Amino acid sequence: MSLSILRLHHSTLRPSLIRRLTQCRNYSSKPPDYAFAFDIDGVLLRGRTPLPGATKSLRKLQDNHVPFILLTNGGGKHESERTEELSRLLDVPITEDMFIQSHTPFKGLVGRYNSVLAVGGEEVGEGEGWKNDKIGKSGEGGVREVAERHWGPTLHIIIDLLLSARGELGTYSNTNGVEVPGKGKYQNNNQPDVWWSNNDLWWQGEYHLPRLGQGGFRAAVEGVWSKITDGEELRATTIGKPFKETYAYAESVLNNLLKKDMGEQARVKRVYMVGDNPRSDIMGANGYGWYSLLLETGVFKRDREGGEAALKDDMRPRQILKNVEAAVDFGMSRGGTS
Ligand SMILES: [Mg+2]
Repeated sequence: MSLSILRLHHSTLRPSLIRRLTQCRNYSSKPPDYAFAFDIDGVLLRGRTPLPGATKSLRKLQDNHVPFILLTNGGGKHESERTEELSRLLDVPITEDMFIQSHTPFKGLVGRYNSVLAVGGEEVGEGEGWKNDKIGKSGEGGVREVAERHWGPTLHIIIDLLLSARGELGTYSNTNGVEVPGKGKYQNNNQPDVWWSNNDLWWQGEYHLPRLGQGGFRAAVEGVWSKITDGEELRATTIGKPFKETYAYAESVLNNLLKKDMGEQARVKRVYMVGDNPRSDIMGANGYGWYSLLLETGVFKRDREGGEAALKDDMRPRQILKNVEAAVDFGMSRGGTS
């Protein structure tokens, strides 16, 4: 049993989970040389309801010492809160070291900026270690907006900051539209850097049709920015799936999990990415050399938008499978193919 598992508060877990946590593991076969990365929405859960086979599949992996992580472009809650919730919903112990959400890598940015406007769930900024959220000198400390609910005002604050002098709300930079050598015609006067943590246009929630994700809000901001600036591109940095940095980080996490459980000599030779979104889960996995498995339980539907035939090369999965259980069986039967 790894120490990290003990971090979960037993009071929040069901008795069946505690039993699983305290079980002695007996195994005689050689350590696994493969691992799984699961998307959450449309793969393991639909809203707050586990999808068929989700719990059984994760337990099967844990019983067989196959490391896995949950790799989601979702977010908005602190990692500890979300993993406790996922443990309860899935009835499988999920620890923080098995969980990467879209804004987790922002932890690495603490100390780089004095002021941050975190757009998203209310606890995003605080959770990632930013204690003092202020917009310029406006005095509106701690302003955080929920983009998915209030696109209009959130978009306006972002545009105001991007047109401001040095990120001070209520100002307007006199270098807007003026070519500054090496800096371009806009975003050339110490306006805030823009970081996106989730590029997904769509995500599958409880409603039967996919909902617009952060990628939808991004399209809105970029569309308005282009209109205002007469076609200038908004400069920004993007993390999360399908970007390489996120997969590199995830693979190192998987190797650490395997080593902690099976010893220093253990190594992950193949990672199975199980996702429902060709544009993020699958494209990112293909780009990083993982084995991509696309499910039909979320965003992707064979009878929508041209189905399988419409998937461009980099979005084409190695396999399309009907659900998460089929994906786990598929991966476990092949392993790392050493
Ligand atoms: Mg998904």
